[in-house]
This record gives sequence, C-alpha cells and structure tokens, in this order.
Amino acid sequence: GESTPAISDAHRGPTGVLEIPQRFLMGPGPANADPRILAAQSLPLLGHMHPPFLKIMDEVQQGLRYLFQTGSKYTLCASGTGHSGMEMAIANLLEPGEKIVVGNNGIWGTRVCDMAERFGAEVINLQTPAGTSFSLEALTRAIEEHKPAVLFLCQGESSTGVHQSLAGVGDVCRKNGTLLLVDTVCSLGGVPLYADEWQVDAIYSGSQKCLSAPPGAAPLMFGERAWAKLKNRKTKVRSYYLDLNLVGNYWGWDAPAPRAYHHTGMTSMWYAMREALAIVAEEGLDAMWARHEAVHKQLWEGLRSMGLEPFVEDPKDRLMTVNTIKVPEGVDWAAVCKNAMDKYSVEIAGGLGPTAGKIWRVGLMGYNARPANVELVLAAFRDGLVQQGFLTN
Ligand code: PMP
Repeated sequence: GESTPAISDAHRGPTGVLEIPQRFLMGPGPANADPRILAAQSLPLLGHMHPPFLKIMDEVQQGLRYLFQTGSKYTLCASGTGHSGMEMAIANLLEPGEKIVVGNNGIWGTRVCDMAERFGAEVINLQTPAGTSFSLEALTRAIEEHKPAVLFLCQGESSTGVHQSLAGVGDVCRKNGTLLLVDTVCSLGGVPLYADEWQVDAIYSGSQKCLSAPPGAAPLMFGERAWAKLKNRKTKVRSYYLDLNLVGNYWGWDAPAPRAYHHTGMTSMWYAMREALAIVAEEGLDAMWARHEAVHKQLWEGLRSMGLEPFVEDPKDRLMTVNTIKVPEGVDWAAVCKNAMDKYSVEIAGGLGPTAGKIWRVGLMGYNARPANVELVLAAFRDGLVQQGFLTN
C-alpha cells in the first residue's frame, strides 16, 4: 500500500498559554486599549449576516456619525488598519487621470502620493517643511491653480507632531469642485473635528489611537458629494476588497435595498468599535477633547521644566495627541527610549521619516490620556536625561 508521509517536527509551532508583558504605550500608537473594549472582543462570535450582528454594525455607524460630527449616512469601518481607510478613500474618490493635490508635510502625505499614483491619478505633491502646516492661502492658491478632483490633508501628522487647521478649506474646495479628504488617524477623538460644519467630504481614521481599541478597524466617512462622485464613476474601482459600492452595501448604504455579503465582517473588531464608540458617547466629545488638551499641557509643563523644547515652532501647529520633542545636542535619544522601556515599561518613540534621529514622540491618546500616565512619562524622561548628563540629579 501507500505509505503516509511522516509529519515533520522541524517547524513545530508554539505551545503553552500566551503571556504578554504590561507596557505603557506612550508612543504614536497603538495606545493601550481600554479593558472594557478588550472584554467586548472576547464575547461569542455571531455570523456576519445575523441580524444582531447587523445591528451592531448599525450602532457603529451611528457612533461614527457623532464622532465625525456628521449627518451623513455614509459611515463605516474598513476591515483593516488606518492604511486600509487611506487606500479605500483614494481608490474610490479618484479615477485614472484625475488630479489630487496632496498636502505633504510628513510621511502620510508621501504615502498618499504613492497610493494615488498606483491608482492612476495625477499627483500634485504640495510641500511645506516638516514641522509646519499649510496656510489657507497656500492651499487656496494650489486649489485654484490645479482645480484638482481631490485635496488631501492630514489633520494630525504623527511623524512631525503637526496639527493641520481645516478652517475655511472646505469652502475653497467646494467653490472649485474639489473634494476634501482628511486623515484623522491619530487625531480623531483627541482634537476637535466637525465634518459637516467644516465641509469635509471624506475622512478616514484608525481604531488604535484616541479610540482606545486594538488596531484593525479604519473608521471612514463619505459626505453626500463624495458619495455622488462614487456613484457617477466612469471606471470601476480598481480594488475589489475596497470598493465602497460593495462594502457600503454590506454596511447598509443602499437601504432599503438588501445588504449582501461582500467579505466576512470582522466580528470581534466591530464589537470593539461598538464599545469604543459607546465609551466616546458616554464621555462626550467636549470632555474628551478637554481631557486630551489638559494632559498635553501637563506634559509640556514638565518637559519645559527639564529644559526640553517642542519640535514644532508655531504653537498653533502643535498636535496635542502626538507630541514631538527636540533631542538636545549631545543626548543619545535611543538610550533614553531604551531606559524608559527597561526601567518603566514606558514606550517613548523616536522620530520617523523627516524627523528620524532628531526628536522623541510622545502619544497622549484615548485611554492613555490621563495625568498618571503623563507623570510616568516625565519620570522616565528625567531619569534618562540624568543618565545622559543633560540634567543633574
Ligand atoms: N495616518 C496617520 C496620521 C497615522 O498616524 C497612521 C499610523 N501611525 C496611519 C495613517 C496609518 O495607520 P495604520 O498604521 O493603522 O495602518
């Protein structure tokens, strides 16, 4: 007879119960998840088309409307991290040959340029130095000159710690037939956003920052104009998985038309989002924004008392959720990060892209935006700076 092959033990997988160290994730993300959200993820699974599950998806959409401050019925979560929301927005909003002006002042603008190019768009890479934001005048000039189909801006540039003001931009976009697309991955829930009031046409975000959930969901909003653009496309969306004609239907965007299976909804992840959004609604956006502002001020009072300075020169450009700190001359930034992790279990991040080696980054987001966490970060900095000889004990 035939001999059955022997099972190879050469690459036998792990055994035993998984153990994870407790860490304070005070970098630019992920932040620590709220235990209530982690508990929601351990609830029993439902089928992805079961009515109680569809109801949870509806609750997520409703929670997102509050969070985005929009009356638009076109909200959902993309199944993936922030990048999936980014790619979904770009794939659906742009047709080949159309123009996008990308406000690029860090790595997110650079990535949007790359993505838009992959989907066949004509990319206008609008730049301003790392650590600064775009003025309304500069944006107006670019929009009037290029009349692009889409303008991209990043509200919270996590590689530089810059906050981009959106005031007045939506109005200029509307007058020029441009759709305004905004990245809010590390700002949503931490700083003010009024999608309707500011006439933002499309937004994407992430679950693992100010919303205190694990990574894996990308909240997304399309306003009426963005939705109309989608419905009037001449070409098919070039990604099946990210096609909002199909994903939107699954989330009920075509109601009263029936919802159809597109991909398996991320059951436990949507439980997490439902719980995250319930926590947001219970706290209230005003209280949530005020909490983020208070810890940001607390952090800087402590950092300044140690002689540390912000990387972002103009106070109005400073992002409260991801704080960027200049590494002083002669200080080994990586040694400070390593000491914080080894001794305090505190994650402090270095720079990224244009800021690599020049700054530290401290995230104050969601569940971590609390006074005790700030004190821990400050203690870790103080200790590291004494070791570096920058401070005396
Ligand atoms: N945009 C911004 C501003 C971000 O901070 C991040 C995550 N660091 C992303 C997009 C991408 O999100 P993700 O890593 O979840 O895909």
